[in-house]
Amino acid sequence: MKRLRAFDYHEPVSVGEATRILAAARDGARVLAGGTDLIVDMKTGRLRPSVVVNLKRIPGLTGIETVAGGTRIGALTKVTAIEASRLIQDRHPGLAQAASILASPPVRALATIGGNIGRASPASDLGPALIVHQAIATIEGRDGTRDELVEDLYVGPGATSLSSCDIITSLFLPNPPQGFGSAHVKLGKRGSGTDIALAGASASVVIGGRGEIVDCRVALASLAPTPLRATAAEAMLRSEMPTEALLAKAARSAGEEARPISDLRASASYRRTLAEVLTLRALHGAVRSAGVEVAA
Ligand SMILES: Cc1cc2nc3c(=O)[nH]c(=O)nc-3n(C[C@H](O)[C@H](O)[C@H](O)COP(=O)(O)OP(=O)(O)OC[C@H]3O[C@@H](n4cnc5c(N)ncnc54)[C@H](O)[C@@H]3O)c2cc1C
Repeated sequence: MKRLRAFDYHEPVSVGEATRILAAARDGARVLAGGTDLIVDMKTGRLRPSVVVNLKRIPGLTGIETVAGGTRIGALTKVTAIEASRLIQDRHPGLAQAASILASPPVRALATIGGNIGRASPASDLGPALIVHQAIATIEGRDGTRDELVEDLYVGPGATSLSSCDIITSLFLPNPPQGFGSAHVKLGKRGSGTDIALAGASASVVIGGRGEIVDCRVALASLAPTPLRATAAEAMLRSEMPTEALLAKAARSAGEEARPISDLRASASYRRTLAEVLTLRALHGAVRSAGVEVAA
C-alpha cells in the first residue's frame, strides 16, 4: 500500500461551511465520514484529493427518527446504529439485515450510511436494501437542497451522480404500507456472511387482502456495475399469489437480468447462479417478514 499524498484538511461546523470549502476546491475535494473506504482509496491511490472535508463536527447529521410519512436517518449514522435500531428492525427489516452483515463489527462501528452510498461500490449491502425501501437522499449542494431517489444516484462502479460539492445529509424511508415485508441476503467469499458480497439480493413485497403480491422490488448486489433492479422479476410477481413456483420463476428471471463479471473472487457464471439462489432466499424472507407463508 502506498503512502498518503499531502492534502488540506478541514473540519467545518455547518453544512453551508462544508459546501463552500468543497466549491472552492472544485474537483479536488472529498468529504470524509467514517473513512473506511476513503482512507483505503487514498492509500491505494485510487483517489488523490487535494482537500479533505471531515463532516464529523457538523451537528444534525446523525440519528434515526420518525418524521412525517416515514423514517429519517442522518447520513453520518453508523452502520452499527442502523443494525441495532428497533425502529429500523420493525419498519424496514431488510435494511437492518443489510446493516447487520456489512463487514465486521469494528468496520460497522466506523462506517456510515452516507459513505456507503458515496463510495457506490457495486458490492454495497446498504444500496440494494435502500432501493427496495424506496429511500430518498436529501443532498445539500452549491445550489441548495434537493431530494433524489437513492436508486438514481448510482451511475457506475465507484461513481455517483453527486458533484464534488454535494453532501448527502440524510435518507428518508417512506412508512411501509400494510402487508409490507423486506429482506436482504448475501454470500461472501469465506461464507461468513459478513465479508464483501460475491453476490447479494434485497427484496420487498406488499401483500394484499387476498394474500396476493400487490407490489414488490428486487435489487441485486455485486451482479452489475451498480446495484441493479431486477424489473422483469418484479413484473412477474405483481398481482400474483406468492407460491414456490412463482418465486422460483422470478428468481430465475433475476439470474438472467444480472450482469455479473468474472474477477479474482468468482466467475460470472457462478455469480449468475448466486443471483438466482439469493433472490429466491430474499423473496422468501420478504414474504415471511410480511407475515405470510409461501404456498407450495
Ligand atoms: C474490511 C472492509 C470490509 C468491508 N465490507 C463491506 C461489506 O461487506 N459491505 C459493504 O457494503 N461495504 C463494505 N465495506 C465498505 C465500507 O465500510 C462502506 O462502504 C461504508 O459504509 C463507507 O462509509 P464511510 O463512512 O466509512 O465512508 P468514507 O470512507 O468516509 O467515504 C466513502 C466515500 O463516500 C463519500 N462520502 C462519505 N460521506 C458522504 C456524504 N455524506 N455525502 C456524500 N459523499 C459522502 C466520500 O467522499 C468517499 O468518496 C468494507 C470496508 C472495509 C474496509
